[in-house]
Amino acid sequence: MPRISRKADSFGESVIREMTRLAMRHGAINLAQGFPDFEAPAEVKAAACDAISADINQYAITWGAKPFRDAIGIKTAHWYPGWEADPETQITVTCGATEGMIASMLAVLDPGDELVVFEPFYENYGPDAILCGAVPRYVTLHEPDWRFDPDELRAAFGPRTRGIVVNSPHNPTGRVFTRDELELIAELCIEHDVVCFTDEIYEHIRYSGDHTPMATIPDMAERTVAINALSKTYSVTGWRVGWVIASPTLTSGIRKVHDFLTVGAAAPLQQAGAVALAMPDAYYHALAVEYCERRDLLVDALSRAGFRASPPDGAYYVMTDIADLTEDDDVTFARRLVESPGVAAVPGSSFYSRPELGRTKLRFAFPKRLATLSGAAGRLTSLGAAAVDARGAP
Ligand code: GLN
Repeated sequence: MPRISRKADSFGESVIREMTRLAMRHGAINLAQGFPDFEAPAEVKAAACDAISADINQYAITWGAKPFRDAIGIKTAHWYPGWEADPETQITVTCGATEGMIASMLAVLDPGDELVVFEPFYENYGPDAILCGAVPRYVTLHEPDWRFDPDELRAAFGPRTRGIVVNSPHNPTGRVFTRDELELIAELCIEHDVVCFTDEIYEHIRYSGDHTPMATIPDMAERTVAINALSKTYSVTGWRVGWVIASPTLTSGIRKVHDFLTVGAAAPLQQAGAVALAMPDAYYHALAVEYCERRDLLVDALSRAGFRASPPDGAYYVMTDIADLTEDDDVTFARRLVESPGVAAVPGSSFYSRPELGRTKLRFAFPKRLATLSGAAGRLTSLGAAAVDARGAP
């Protein structure tokens, strides 16, 4: 009887995507998977339609259409002066940040290499490491402010360390790493000759603190693989268009892996991507302001419903604690919530190496219309009342 490989057998299905399917089955409001339920910018959509009509419908160059790579180089240098990425040798267009991350890791890591990952972590990084045959070394982001202990980070670096993943603004906690933290990570990367894989997909979704790309820290450009995408900044998660910026040496490996994995990302959507990346600064400021309003509405609703929730500094998730609400574990509670009152969230254990670490956590996503979030807030109200009943009224 044919079996699946040990690799494929060693990780589970994505719980984030599973919760979306459950939300659809139960007619729940989906605050599980992080994707917008509002419209993408009109000019970006029009550019995609125009590109298809103009018959940009065949393969783009495997590492990305030139106008799009040029636009990535220009936008990067515009926002982060001094970060000059050569579109000819340093930029690879991928099928979303997801492919960008796995193609980069496959191009850099050998089986047995160690990869440092901050925990909690976006659930893809675990299977990414397994598919590379790499061994993850987890470093805890400690509550309540989700900072790492410098000594614990130092202890995670050793002779087998080849990579570290830095995701800032961070999914699921919303942490924006400070320059001091990034400098310590950089120091360790240089000392141990380690590559830093950065997931910067939430760079423009921030409520406080600056985004400092690792590649702009002195001596880090040559050892940083910076991953980004159109998905979150332009509200087009279904387009699957992302990119990777790295040194010419690392790029040569990343481009080969990318080519044989996917050949290339959708050609007309890369054309539209060039239009998206040329949007004025005002677009990005408005994006952050609108997200701030969504964040405040959801954090307030969750707090009133009895979740322990504090406002994230960036990204579009709230990592909550359910210990005051229920004795159920995260998975049981999330499954109950999706059925009644009908709100989907992601069980915290999805973001930890050992499920017990996320037992009292639930992640809510807020890239949603205010009406959607208000609807969820209304449904969650019943939980707060039930929790007070269970504890007894004061
Ligand atoms: N990054 C989003 C999340 O964490 C979407 C993940 C996905 O399904 N690709 O929910």
